Amino acid sequence: MRLTVIGTGYLGAVHAACMAAIGHDVLGVDTDTEKITALAEGRPPFYEPGLDEVLTQGLASGNLRFTTRLNEAAAHGEVHFICVGTPQQAGSRAADLRYVDSVVNGLVPHLRSSCLVVGKSTVPVGTTERLTEHVANLAPPGVRAEVAWNPEFLREGYAVEDTLRPDRIVTGVNSSQADETLRRVYAPMLSAGVPYISTDPNTAELVKVAANSFLATKISFINAMAEVCDAAGADVVTLADAIGHDTRIGRRFLNAGVGFGGGCLPKDIRAFAARAQELGAGPAVAFLDQVDEINGRQRTRTVALARRMAGGDLTGRSVAVLGATFKPDSDDVRDSPALAIAAALREEGADVRVHDPEGTANAALAHPELYCETDVLTACQNAELVLHLTEWAQYRELDPVKLSRVVRVPVLIDGRNALAHDEWRSAGWTVKALGRSAPS
Ligand code: NAD
Repeated sequence: MRLTVIGTGYLGAVHAACMAAIGHDVLGVDTDTEKITALAEGRPPFYEPGLDEVLTQGLASGNLRFTTRLNEAAAHGEVHFICVGTPQQAGSRAADLRYVDSVVNGLVPHLRSSCLVVGKSTVPVGTTERLTEHVANLAPPGVRAEVAWNPEFLREGYAVEDTLRPDRIVTGVNSSQADETLRRVYAPMLSAGVPYISTDPNTAELVKVAANSFLATKISFINAMAEVCDAAGADVVTLADAIGHDTRIGRRFLNAGVGFGGGCLPKDIRAFAARAQELGAGPAVAFLDQVDEINGRQRTRTVALARRMAGGDLTGRSVAVLGATFKPDSDDVRDSPALAIAAALREEGADVRVHDPEGTANAALAHPELYCETDVLTACQNAELVLHLTEWAQYRELDPVKLSRVVRVPVLIDGRNALAHDEWRSAGWTVKALGRSAPS
């Protein structure tokens, strides 16, 4: 099928390459010329494991092309996927839909034949309904453009795998024709047995924000328990292990630490709360404000712990921060807890050096005041305090004995509760973490 993918960022670039990989004829579109040039040359514009392979294969097969011209896309697609950003509006919790609207306004008047416009971006419930009327007004005479929503659940770091073998596919459609078109797009996944939930657009839009709200709540729940553990002198990791054995609860997403971040969870729960309020259902999701608040508090609690470990004053203290991205296996630093903490430590006068395996370029752009290092040992040279803030596998493989010879004072704050604390202690380190105040 002839597909266009409009917006080729973390979501769209992967979607475009994976749709080409399953045999569609795909045109990727973005307003960012640098991004489009890189993609057209087979260079992923960001770090995502496995993306280079699907990208290179797609370009070589002729199934995948890129352009900056929306009217070219209008002529190409039977199905147009909208994958542009929906960030938080400045000065509000609500989602900023200007990029989605601008795609619709730029695309629809140029359509030459009937087609399906499918949103994948995360949007407030009611967006398909609103756009359906708008698209009908914009479409040239004789052209029928239907709008559907097909929310995306991919995780950065596993995006290719998640797109090719998703846990489920959810579509929100207004007609059996739209349903049939989307079933043809995803036919290889359907024959592989991927659950396919076809519903109305409002429900589909809500599924995405409900899923993210649940995940965010689970993380903030365990971080709230970490706070109580610190007050009571108890251990949150043992607590998480113990409650996680209950299959109704499950152990995943119960890792206490510096909390969640990134370009999705924080802004999605805020936009959901704002939209629910508009709909008169604000009280139903008021708990999301608490979820957000608990999450933010883990950043300030980590800074406070660092200050305490530095004897009450961080001025002039040499601090190494391991991790800049919001999660491992990505170069994405949007709303990253690691970077926010690094910046706060710097603000308090610490001499901060940040290491990240893939995120230093983005970190330096977002926080030019921070020193970024691509070598861990250089970042830790003469440090008086090391903070582990992003769960990259390479940090778990660090040799605490070797590292203790590089730092000035062997003090570690494990902001992810992911390192082998006993090993580090045996190597002479003082190890601290949120929620682990039980006597050891
Ligand atoms: P992103 O910022 O990486 O990508 C957005 C892209 O859209 C950019 O390349 C931008 O240049 C492009 N763009 C903006 N306006 C455009 C226009 N008028 N025409 C063409 N291109 C335009 O964002 P992202 O992380 O890919 O997220 C996109 C959407 O997908 C958001 O709604 C997000 O919530 C949702 N989402 C993201 C993920 C994820 O893991 N990143 C997962 C699921 C859902």
